[in-house]
Amino acid sequence: MPPEADPAATGSRQQDWMRSFVADLLRHEGALVEAVAPDGLEVLAPPEVQRVLGIAELSRFAFGAGAPPGFQRVGMEGDWLDRFGRLLGPRGRRVRRILAAPPRMPGDPERMLGHELVLDNATYRLLGVAPAWTRYLIFDFRASAVSDDKRDFVLRVAVNLATGSVPDAVVAAIAGAADAPADDAAPPADVELPATWDRARLAGLLARAVPARIDLALAPFVRGMRRRLERDQDRLHVYHNDLYRQAALRALALAPDDPRREREERRMAAIEREYRAKLDDLSRQYATRVAIEWIQTMELVMPVHRFAVQIRRRKADRTIRLDWNPVARRLEPPACESTASTEKPRLVCDGALHLVVPAALGPCPGCGRSYCRACHPDRCPKCGALEPRRRVEPRAG
Ligand SMILES: [Zn+2]
Ligand SMILES: [Zn+2]
Repeated sequence: MPPEADPAATGSRQQDWMRSFVADLLRHEGALVEAVAPDGLEVLAPPEVQRVLGIAELSRFAFGAGAPPGFQRVGMEGDWLDRFGRLLGPRGRRVRRILAAPPRMPGDPERMLGHELVLDNATYRLLGVAPAWTRYLIFDFRASAVSDDKRDFVLRVAVNLATGSVPDAVVAAIAGAADAPADDAAPPADVELPATWDRARLAGLLARAVPARIDLALAPFVRGMRRRLERDQDRLHVYHNDLYRQAALRALALAPDDPRREREERRMAAIEREYRAKLDDLSRQYATRVAIEWIQTMELVMPVHRFAVQIRRRKADRTIRLDWNPVARRLEPPACESTASTEKPRLVCDGALHLVVPAALGPCPGCGRSYCRACHPDRCPKCGALEPRRRVEPRAG
């Protein structure tokens, strides 16, 4: 997912995704589905589909904002995903696709590598490029963020099981091909596919990859919410400050032994208490809760070109592998071995030659000593200070 994703563009991609998902699912369940302008579907549903989805025999669905008259709006919000989930049952939650990719070759491997691999404290050398096959696991999660407002979206996170990369840009580029009806020719018999990861390794990677990507996807939502929170805090402050000042002025105008003065002072204390309580209410109102639910896993098997790259730092070296995807025509950057982000540049750690983002090799908040968060994910090896969860701030551009 690109940083600062344009919400309108994300919205329209989601609509397209939802529309083709609904059309495929309903056709599969025996409905007659026809595309109708603008970007809608006309559905003649068999009785079982009518019952499970709670729709009429003939329905028109719209997927954008503002459904035209006679159309039902279908989106991520509300209970549509639950209804489709019931129709789907346990089927379709795991899908396997084999993509016969065009036999393209990377144009200029050295230049591509120079673009994707930027190391600030190490050198590298391209050892070779060879055709290979890989398996991607592509996970779709439904995420909803709820505070004073609500935002629902689908987060897609994919991992290349051969290289461990988390290639957001490549997967976005091949999403159309991956979602299209399968041309499930089996891969050639002599092809060697990467092994399945064990559950712990996969869960560990997702635990690192998902939160940062949720933060990025929610950045515009959070910015809007912060603006509203600050505006409400300002209003509360102006209002209570005014009341307080008036009471204080009245108190000051009275003699110290005047009983009315004590009344004004009590009023001042009450205004202050009320101000604090209102601020607490606001924090509760704007606290954001994000729920994430797994929807589907797609296994995508396809040919790639595999780059073998030797990383050199001081006297040590290590060989990593990166795949060039012929549908996206892109080389996948290595995932940061601590945060799973694809940001550039990278630093290489002294111990295991991990490739990590600079923050993951930064100083410990406890003792100030720098250490590698891929080598020591939980706490500083020197002083034992716990590692706080890092938040990824969205970058401009
Ligand atoms: Zn420390
Ligand atoms: Zn390390």
